[in-house]
Amino acid sequence: MALTLGIVGGGQLARMMIAPAVELGVDVRVLAEEPGMSAALAATATGDYRDLETVRAFAREVDVVTFDHEHVPQAVLRALVDEGVTVHPGPDALQFAQDKLAMRARLAELGAPQPEWAAVADASDLQAFLDENGGRAVVKTPRGGYDGKGVRVVSSPEEVADWFGDGPLLAEELVDFARELAQQVARRPSGELAVYPVVETVQRGGVCAEVIAPAPERTARLAEVAADIGAAIAEGLGVTGMLAVELFETTDERLLVNELAMRPHNSGHWGQDGAVTGQFEQHVRAVLDLPLGDPAPRQPWAVMVNILGGPETDTLESRLPAALAAHPAAKVHTYGKAPRPGRKVGHVNATGDDLDAVVYEARAAASFFAD
Ligand code: ADP
Repeated sequence: MALTLGIVGGGQLARMMIAPAVELGVDVRVLAEEPGMSAALAATATGDYRDLETVRAFAREVDVVTFDHEHVPQAVLRALVDEGVTVHPGPDALQFAQDKLAMRARLAELGAPQPEWAAVADASDLQAFLDENGGRAVVKTPRGGYDGKGVRVVSSPEEVADWFGDGPLLAEELVDFARELAQQVARRPSGELAVYPVVETVQRGGVCAEVIAPAPERTARLAEVAADIGAAIAEGLGVTGMLAVELFETTDERLLVNELAMRPHNSGHWGQDGAVTGQFEQHVRAVLDLPLGDPAPRQPWAVMVNILGGPETDTLESRLPAALAAHPAAKVHTYGKAPRPGRKVGHVNATGDDLDAVVYEARAAASFFAD
């Protein structure tokens, strides 16, 4: 009988696990937050992932539970594990992707390179951190941030006055980075690792805009150092499934860990068309404890350009034929989401052996969907 994978969360990451799961003969069930979500192509239950009864009932129908996001509460996850449900990644690992303060403390124990940081409970703690770090800092809410929400660059505690009172905040040095990178690693419960090439991620307005795979090497041993950091974190935290380690490459050529995601990640979409085994197939294999696929690139370069939503009245579908006609070598992926301004509604991948040409191809195809 086919294995059934249960994915909590009905967004595009769940959606993109469906095709490779089907190819592997794995059935998929999704617990979506509301009807009609991106991943509703698979058998879908609708309910609140914060409610133990809802998630428990969902888990009964599947062999392994995994996630499209990191928001399922620890109490729910731990109750499932105690009841014998197979959950990947498990709560012990996932807590470090849910809470940035817990992550910083654990990465410090593992000796991973990080920005200077502190837990700041009040304005005077933050002022002390500012005084020690040149008068500016990045302050983050430990939980619930995404796409730059929950991140502020400040030079005085008043700028985050509205955030105090709900537990300590994370203060970090304002890193002078040359660029942002991401290192992905897959790890299966039995321990096997598959390490992807480190990629460059280009952010605009706090949102990932483009990814270049692999990251053009500016310093010797970049790929090796990044791979070692990713593998050490995957093993040190006992991650199962896909791990993405977001990194800063500093102007003085150090790599520092920004944050972790324990699921497929926007920085890995290139691999659907650019790697022997893309991250969605790899995540499915890893959480089912199947042998991992080869993470090697198929072509020297792959570039991913995100499609962000335009006016609500417009549809991706109406623009698709022209984009496909003009760029037959580009791969367009759409998420079945209503386009709202700034919302990630799809992406384009292009691959080849000339980086400039690949960047051009991906941007040109994506531009058909821009305003
Ligand atoms: P989110 O969880 O919203 O993705 P991140 O912690 O990844 O938040 O921060 C969002 C962006 O803010 C990063 O991609 C980076 O551009 C910038 N940023 C975050 N932390 C720092 C830092 N310590 N120094 C400089 N820039 C930072």
